[in-house]
Amino acid sequence: MPFLIFIVVFALIIGLRLWMYFGYQNDLTIHFNPHTKLFKNRLSLDQVNILTRYSRYYRHLPERLKAYYEDRMLSFIGDKEFITKGDLALTEDKQLLVADSAVKLTFGLRMYRFEQFEKIIFFKGEFYSDFSHSLNKGETNPAGAIVFSWKDLEESDLKEADGINLGLHEFAHALMVQNLGPQGYDDEYFLDKIVGFEDFYNNYEMLADVREHHLFREYAFKNKMEFFAICCEQFFEVPDKMKAGLPRLYELLCSMLNQDPLTILSPEIGNRRTE
Ligand SMILES: [Zn+2]
Repeated sequence: MPFLIFIVVFALIIGLRLWMYFGYQNDLTIHFNPHTKLFKNRLSLDQVNILTRYSRYYRHLPERLKAYYEDRMLSFIGDKEFITKGDLALTEDKQLLVADSAVKLTFGLRMYRFEQFEKIIFFKGEFYSDFSHSLNKGETNPAGAIVFSWKDLEESDLKEADGINLGLHEFAHALMVQNLGPQGYDDEYFLDKIVGFEDFYNNYEMLADVREHHLFREYAFKNKMEFFAICCEQFFEVPDKMKAGLPRLYELLCSMLNQDPLTILSPEIGNRRTE
């Protein structure tokens, strides 16, 4: 009898490992979270109204996925210390707009809290950074803070199809920094895919092809980190154009982030869709 129990437990453990390994397309596996799985936290009606206005991604999520999305939003907001500088008031829409970028970018991944970055700091407009010694609109500081000019964040993120999105840009940096850094906050799935991205970036012909398409602004070619950040902006803002013009890169991003924004956004993008 004890031997039978041992066999059953052993088979269950192997089965669970296999399910997790092959189940990256499975909502339950991706969004599994021990303490929220059964009792997912939902946004208040006011928060839903703000997010519905701000986020076309959220607007088009199926109800089933909205539950996971909202739970992740609240968990992210609860984890962070939000700080405003000067006479800028800390309001709920600031928290929601920032959390929307973080959660959208990582919605296909298991890790979404950006644990390395405990503080989200807002300035009213551009700010001088002691870290980069320059005037910035946004900054991802590996010491643990992500900093935004609220004016630029609001302007760029609320226009959702112009290819510029400061929130996604900084969280894309944070995702890379966190996965490549020594702190151990990496997502094993994402980490696995970075090699393919680096191969693409290091291939002169592929990069020249991206440049020729003029979809990316010149800043993308400054270095690997900026290239990834601008890839992420394009991926969520103009997925149809990116897929049509740069199909290999689009597929690479789908694979890295384990999601395809076109499947969610196609009702709104409508006849611009290029499949
Ligand atoms: Zn950047």
